Amino acid sequence: MDKNTRICIVGGGPAGLSAGMYLEQKGYENYTILERLDRVGGKCWSPTYNGRRYEMGAIMGVPSYYAVHDVEEFCGITHDGPKLNRNYKNRQGKVIEPFEPKKNLLKIPRLLKMKKQLKKFGELLETKYKGYDVNGHRGVAEGRYDGFSQTSAKREPIKGENPNLKDLSLPFSEFCKLNGVELIQDIWIGPYTSFGYGSFDEITAGYVVKYLDFQTCMNFVKINLWTWKNGTQYIWEQLNDHLKHPARLNSTIESVERKDGKVYVTVNGKVEEYDKIIVTAPLYIPNKRTDGQKGMVDYFDAREDEKELFSKIDYERYDVLAVETKPEDHPEISYYVFDNMVPDRLGHLMVYYRRWRDTKDQVITTYALRKHKNTEEVPYEECRKMVLEDLKTMNNPASNVVNEWSVYYFPHVFSKDYADGWYDKVEAMQGKYDTYYAGEVMSFGDMDETAEYSRELVERFF
Ligand SMILES: Cc1cc2nc3c(=O)[nH]c(=O)nc-3n(C[C@H](O)[C@H](O)[C@H](O)COP(=O)(O)OP(=O)(O)OC[C@H]3O[C@@H](n4cnc5c(N)ncnc54)[C@H](O)[C@@H]3O)c2cc1C
Repeated sequence: MDKNTRICIVGGGPAGLSAGMYLEQKGYENYTILERLDRVGGKCWSPTYNGRRYEMGAIMGVPSYYAVHDVEEFCGITHDGPKLNRNYKNRQGKVIEPFEPKKNLLKIPRLLKMKKQLKKFGELLETKYKGYDVNGHRGVAEGRYDGFSQTSAKREPIKGENPNLKDLSLPFSEFCKLNGVELIQDIWIGPYTSFGYGSFDEITAGYVVKYLDFQTCMNFVKINLWTWKNGTQYIWEQLNDHLKHPARLNSTIESVERKDGKVYVTVNGKVEEYDKIIVTAPLYIPNKRTDGQKGMVDYFDAREDEKELFSKIDYERYDVLAVETKPEDHPEISYYVFDNMVPDRLGHLMVYYRRWRDTKDQVITTYALRKHKNTEEVPYEECRKMVLEDLKTMNNPASNVVNEWSVYYFPHVFSKDYADGWYDKVEAMQGKYDTYYAGEVMSFGDMDETAEYSRELVERFF
């Protein structure tokens, strides 16, 4: 492609900003990033409270966050944040140690079985499911792997046949059953469901194992994690500051028209002309949202294939509250509440996070899911009330809510569409209307997978 190609990038989150970085590194300097809000970072949002930054969105990374590491190197920053730590409580607020055999004498046989299944699962992923952990989902439904290896920082392209990969279309709980490793769900659920990515009975195994590959999951278990002192938003603010063309904030895109090999974008009332457009913003939102976010099919001259495919996308309703407590009510550490990570406890508190351990004058943040594929959405206010009640039950009552949002989170498709080759159909559309699709739905809803997908998109098409 001509290096002077005029490229419009929709969205100034990790996917959009890293697309800018990788394009620039490849010699494409004629790019424009349009961001609808007055800040960059998207779901990496780190506001300030009492002089320190806390996390309303993304919190942590793992050592295999290679794309995030590319960004750190590009900007000369590092992961310098407070060490994470956690404990567990049951739904009555009692501290428990679910994985400690001495504290669970009756559960020893189950814990031993779990340990065996964990070993088996690790081996199966390496052998039976070879190729499972490439970024993105190309070819999986057809029993192929085709992408960039994530097992080392080199991230070289790899390709091959493996019919077993078709199993990744199953919901994760069925996938575990098929492989006789049901008990490993007790380990995976912590960094999966409580992080807002849905329940294992509804979510396709492809998403679970590509994000929580064996190594990544073990890094969570061992708490070998990265955080950033100034918050995850700082990574993307820094990247924005280091780009030749920082994102244009407060850009409201009214419409996008693609015709005669050109892309006409109407931004804040003015038409701009481009050659290509990369969309990292939501492609489809099934309901009306109070935050004004729309799917691209609503402001683009969407074609029938775009409308048809993108209408299959659903997303999680993941709610975050930042609360103050009285000093005597402040939790000593972050807590996971496994009892609340099941579908019949939708809307309840699943995790709460104490980021700053050296002071009690900072907020703690709470996390709840209020939607499951098979049930009605729990209304926002109801969920908020339940979470505040749960904090009381946990003996860490809130004295005040400082910040809150309900996030458009983890867009994904369900098993049937995944098995029907949704990803291969969308991948086949890349570039078709001078349009490229990136961001969470194309890989997974975390900082690194989205940035990595942008890297690959640039490698493959530019
Ligand atoms: C509570 C929470 C906890 C999380 N924890 C972690 C974690 O610990 N680790 C991790 O790696 N990830 C975590 N994530 C996920 C991570 O933040 C996201 O996956 C990542 O930010 C996705 O990047 P993105 O650029 O694809 O999308 P986004 O971050 O959503 O960015 C999209 C951008 O596009 C903009 N936009 C939308 N529509 C338009 C439009 N029409 N025109 C212009 N701009 C538009 C948005 O304003 C936004 O800035 C968490 C997220 C949340 C909410």
